[in-house]
Amino acid sequence: MNIATQAAQIGLEWDTRTGAVTVPIYQTATFRHPGLGQSTGYDYSRSGNPTRQALEEGIARLEGGGRGFAYASGMAAIANLLLLFKQGDHLIVTEDLYGGTYRLFEKVFGQYGLTFTYVDTTDAAAVEAAIRPETRGLFVESLTNPLLKAADIGALAALCRERGILCIVDNTFLTPYLLRPFELGADITVYSATKYLAGHNDTVCGLVVVKDPALAERVYFHQNSVGAVLGPQDSWLAIRGMKTLSVRLDRQQENAQRLAEWLVKQPQITRVHYPGLPGHPGHDLLQRQARGFGAMIAFEVADPSLVEQLLLKTQLISFAESLGGVETLITFPEVQTHADIEPAIRARLGINNVLLRLSVGIEDAGDLIADLAQAFE
Ligand SMILES: *Cc1c(COP(=O)(O)O)cnc(C)c1O
Repeated sequence: MNIATQAAQIGLEWDTRTGAVTVPIYQTATFRHPGLGQSTGYDYSRSGNPTRQALEEGIARLEGGGRGFAYASGMAAIANLLLLFKQGDHLIVTEDLYGGTYRLFEKVFGQYGLTFTYVDTTDAAAVEAAIRPETRGLFVESLTNPLLKAADIGALAALCRERGILCIVDNTFLTPYLLRPFELGADITVYSATKYLAGHNDTVCGLVVVKDPALAERVYFHQNSVGAVLGPQDSWLAIRGMKTLSVRLDRQQENAQRLAEWLVKQPQITRVHYPGLPGHPGHDLLQRQARGFGAMIAFEVADPSLVEQLLLKTQLISFAESLGGVETLITFPEVQTHADIEPAIRARLGINNVLLRLSVGIEDAGDLIADLAQAFE
């Protein structure tokens, strides 16, 4: 079935007793045993909860296979995956990485003897050059934050396979609706489902899908051992959000394309980063490898004073962190999402004091353009 159909139907088959169309919220910590040495399949909600399981099976179905895992946040999901590595292991990582992931790798896992090399993952040759004898993993963002650089997941996954390296794709910005990492050869996908998957700026959650059953068993062991699981209420909210993934993303992309085309024409704007624009370096790759270009736009204004003006004068568009929800948000990456990245690295990556980022929502595109226009005036 098409992913739009699969998404709409998540949880539908769950309650055979009443036929409830949505999966019930099993707000329980523990489960009664039918007899000594017997189990209903559920014992304790850290180990397994039916509402969470409906979400975990749902994301695996959208991914096109493998086993799904739900966590209390995207960061908890990524932290759980890093437990697959041990002291002395080396990972290659996308250089313009989500700031929180960079912080987790450098400030937390660095203390446990894992080492990381940050490279431009849009350049497969640069990734290959960074491989060392102790390299065990590649952690790549399919579309980066905030500059929207697109990595060739097919080429990177083939390289990983050849060299015996685990290929982990943070596919948060594209979702399985737009990019299908497993079909391109990746081993593991990870999502901040807080963003497009749940899609309503109302819950923080993380999802992982692991293709290989033996590897999935190890991830399950870590999920249950560490326990940063998603609760039943939030699992239900994530499912509810995911049901409308295709219609939201279709509309968000349509809006983003219109906004990007408007932004490039504004005299106060010097540069627009949107893969849907033909001049963008990721345009051709995504046209080949993905179903669309996503709905994130970064742009540079001509003068730093315009940053504060835009952040404060937009009325419909909210000045807030996060992305992927139905409401359009604007952020200033240098001081918000990417504040934990060293200034010299930020400067090299192009995250500067005139760069703003838009997460385009589902509102009317004309209203969004009018809001930006009045803020500029
Ligand atoms: C937000 C985000 C994360 C972290 O997820 P949380 O749900 O905020 O913990 C990781 N990767 C990317 C690309 C993100 O945008």
